[in-house]
Amino acid sequence: MPAVDSVLIQGGGVGGLTLAAALAQRGVQVDVVEAVGSDAVLGVGLNQPSNVLAALDEIGVRQACIDAGFPFEELLLWSPASEQVAAIPPPAGLYGTPSNNAISRPLYNGILREAAERAGARIRTGATVWELTEDDAGVEVELATWTGKRTAPRRDGGADRRRYDLVVGFDGVRSRIREHLFGDRYVPVPTGFAVWRVVMPRPADVTHIVMALSGDVKAVLTPTSRTEMYIALVSPEPGNPRYERADFARLVRERMTSFSGLIGQLRDGITDEQYVSYAPLESLMVREPWFRGRVAIAGDAAHTSPPHLAQGAAMAVEDAVVLAASLDEHTSLPDALDAWYLRRRDRAAFVADMSLALLRQETGSELTPADLELLQMGIPGAQARLAAQSY
Ligand SMILES: Cc1cc2nc3c(=O)[nH]c(=O)nc-3n(C[C@H](O)[C@H](O)[C@H](O)COP(=O)(O)OP(=O)(O)OC[C@H]3O[C@@H](n4cnc5c(N)ncnc54)[C@H](O)[C@@H]3O)c2cc1C
Repeated sequence: MPAVDSVLIQGGGVGGLTLAAALAQRGVQVDVVEAVGSDAVLGVGLNQPSNVLAALDEIGVRQACIDAGFPFEELLLWSPASEQVAAIPPPAGLYGTPSNNAISRPLYNGILREAAERAGARIRTGATVWELTEDDAGVEVELATWTGKRTAPRRDGGADRRRYDLVVGFDGVRSRIREHLFGDRYVPVPTGFAVWRVVMPRPADVTHIVMALSGDVKAVLTPTSRTEMYIALVSPEPGNPRYERADFARLVRERMTSFSGLIGQLRDGITDEQYVSYAPLESLMVREPWFRGRVAIAGDAAHTSPPHLAQGAAMAVEDAVVLAASLDEHTSLPDALDAWYLRRRDRAAFVADMSLALLRQETGSELTPADLELLQMGIPGAQARLAAQSY
């Protein structure tokens, strides 16, 4: 690979593992440091639209994802009483079928991790970057032990120092690498809404992603395998409150009282808080180059949005395969990073801006003139645009 021989990736989530696989398959020496480990990755599921399936094909895992997931075509809209009111057909475009494949997140991470390790990437869990020192020829990195959000990183006394040609922060919305590059210029902004997710057995009638809106609460049913599905419930949570886990099941049921029919039956079955997770929805968009010198950020670290287009992880995977290709195509690192950023920024910003506009529209929040312009195309128009553009 002309532009780099060695790369350190901070973050072994969807984006970091894809980049690790894509670079290692090209012969680059790749180390990944992941604080928590794949077992702790938001253990629910997500949708893979056809554009991300094409990007995953570049590292050879498209079919493994389809085999482990639940492929389908259109998205369905149901009334709060669980009657179908519309179907959004998949857009025609560059990426073929299936148009969607929903998959459990731990399975997805496992597939990516195996691809990265098979290609030779070294993945170290319970670790993070302590210090980065950059010079003209490389980045000197000192690692620290870190096993979770609630504990502080522990310096290993310089025991683990290595040099790399490039460091990439795929370390999520609270990225430390972004902080290293930009200080506190970019911080995640709470939207005032949160998502509750509940994993449960899949009833035979849930064969597509189903969206049902009742007032300012949206329920989304996602089948992730023949046997499993999850409900994601987007609800207003002003002031970003914290709740006790013991109350999770009751709080979800209370927020779903206006649903009936199948969705009502599913709600009544939510009794065990261990299957419920809660996350505030945040947004963040770095609107300047995602790199300086030999340090870059990508995925949620550079652009995070509410999940209203189900494209956040897709953008992280696209960032990763385009970065690997750009490092391959250019002999100079600055040229490679520049070309990569210019190729990615507008598509990622479109997903972030459109997702936020959809959240505001669905929840009756105040819309900006830019929101109104984007909303003219609706979800079908946004999907068509993403499917028509090459990533
Ligand atoms: C409710 C919800 C539903 C969603 N549904 C979809 C969907 O259907 N389709 C879709 O495409 N996207 C979806 N998304 C978006 C998607 O989850 C994210 O965009 C995606 O996970 C971003 O991938 P990433 O690799 O950039 O970051 P992450 O997945 O957040 O991974 C970051 C990794 O870095 C690690 N890390 C963090 N800090 C450090 C550190 N200092 N040192 C070492 N390691 C660190 C973390 O432990 C983590 O493993 C959804 C998001 C939400 C909230």
